[in-house]
Amino acid sequence: MEDNKEEIVSKNFIEQEIDKDLSEGVYNHVQTRFPPEPNGYLHIGHAKSILLNYGLAQKYGGKFNLRFDDTNPTKEKTEFVESIMEDVKWLGADFGDRLFFASNYFQEMYDCAVLLIKKGKAFVCDLTAEEIREYRGDFKTPGKESPYRNRSVEENLKLFEEMKDGTYKDGEKVLRAKIDMSSPNINMRDPVIYRVARMTHHNTGDAWCIYPMYDFAHPIEDAIENITHSICTLEFEDHRPLYDWVVKECEYPNPPRQIEFAKLYLTNVVTGKRYIKKLVEDNIVDGWDDPRLVSIAALRRRGYTPEALRMFVDLVGVSKANSSVDYAMLEYCIREDLKLKKPRVMAILDPIKLVIDNYPEDTVEYLDAPNNLENPELGERKIPFCKELYIEREDFMEEPVKKYFRLFPGNEVRLMNAYFVTCTSCEKDADGNVTVVHCTYDPETRSGSGFEGRKVKGTIHWVAAKTAVVAECRLYENIVDEEKGKLNEDGSLNLNPNSLTIIKNCFVEPELTKARAYDSFQFVRNGFFCVDCKDSTPEHLVFNRIVSLKSSFKITK
Ligand code: ATP
Ligand code: MG
Repeated sequence: MEDNKEEIVSKNFIEQEIDKDLSEGVYNHVQTRFPPEPNGYLHIGHAKSILLNYGLAQKYGGKFNLRFDDTNPTKEKTEFVESIMEDVKWLGADFGDRLFFASNYFQEMYDCAVLLIKKGKAFVCDLTAEEIREYRGDFKTPGKESPYRNRSVEENLKLFEEMKDGTYKDGEKVLRAKIDMSSPNINMRDPVIYRVARMTHHNTGDAWCIYPMYDFAHPIEDAIENITHSICTLEFEDHRPLYDWVVKECEYPNPPRQIEFAKLYLTNVVTGKRYIKKLVEDNIVDGWDDPRLVSIAALRRRGYTPEALRMFVDLVGVSKANSSVDYAMLEYCIREDLKLKKPRVMAILDPIKLVIDNYPEDTVEYLDAPNNLENPELGERKIPFCKELYIEREDFMEEPVKKYFRLFPGNEVRLMNAYFVTCTSCEKDADGNVTVVHCTYDPETRSGSGFEGRKVKGTIHWVAAKTAVVAECRLYENIVDEEKGKLNEDGSLNLNPNSLTIIKNCFVEPELTKARAYDSFQFVRNGFFCVDCKDSTPEHLVFNRIVSLKSSFKITK
């Protein structure tokens, strides 16, 4: 019965809830949304939310909306709207023609507020923000009712209209839901749902001088768009009763349902907008897309792929408990994604010269090299070989340590895709630093010739000096190290001084001059590298190291 294996598909708790809703007929379709506030760049945590919402819509044959939650004009900017759209598209979360702006619903939200007033469920309150806070009470103390709570419907309608028409100063009056000042849930203690604020909105300009509060606006936005499952992060759990109250009292026929999951946190990175903004403003990083950050734009610039981020989000899964994911897991995913897809080329990051004394002076030979040993589909390329090469400084030791199988006087190694060479001597400068290594080669040992005469223990990579192209490589470490403490005593970030190393004089194969922005490669032994989209030109190549080849992360299944 070996063909009869049953596929076990484990579902996360959100999928289990959706299954239940569909089977009980609560909904007959699935519609999700990603509702960013356009007040900054998206980061890896948002990527999780996007891919989760989009993935659910796909899995259930439903739809996915991108909706800008732009109800708070103070912090919002068109620049952010554009970057968010680019990021969502890049991640592959296709919202088709379902791009929405909450600000387009301001009239409907206003009408909902009027409906609540008419039902005696909302009132205009003259208490100051400070007084409202005092009256609200806390976990131990029940709240006190506002003296304005029992205004008549007529008076409330008139005052609310005057709020809208600009009769009152900012903060002079608010509209509050009339729920329950003694509720154990503080969110239900007559929350403010509209405020007066004279601010120009990026979409509606000066059309409105009252703006709805998030807890009132968000459920209405979901309801208008026929969202079925409104998926959000855990901090909104206590707001759910208010969410349900709003959709019910505003009389939406198919109320959406809020489900919360834990935010994604990553070790050794910075995601808070406040910190990133400061790093950008202080010129510590090169903008919001500096490759050391984990904004989506930064990950893209570093060389991360949507596929790797999808794999990462799937591996992390969804949960109800907050926890931090090891940064190494993200690195594992990009390695897995690139290892079969990208050509493996030779680049020397810390060069010294290797001279093959018995190789003809002016000859350039073109040798065949497979582009990816594990994936023959990537084909082969020709690489130039000549008398003088560059090798990594660490691949030569005048006095080898134990178990060192690379170049040292008297030892024979394989030059990758080329010949066996035997080290004969080295030259040094006045300070004793090795400047040139000498060797001889054995023409019989050419790679691919079938030579089986003898074996060598070491293989080293190289680049032919005559045709080598100079490149700049940027190596990264995490921007903070949590083991050393993420914050200083004064609350500022404790930055890793080695987060960026720039190496100006690397040598790469001439083939790489064809590379364009975002192209990525495996540099033998040195890691995966990506052409920098901002600073690289064919005349001055700049590569970002995406990730090294070694991993400290093991996946256990
Ligand atoms: P931040 O303050 O980190 O920018 P935010 O919650 O203010 O985050 P919003 O634009 O309001 O950002 O959020 C858009 C959506 O992304 C929300 O549904 C929110 O719950 C979700 N989200 C934000 N951060 C994370 C995270 N770390 N993990 C998963 N989802 C997140
Ligand atoms: Mg926010």
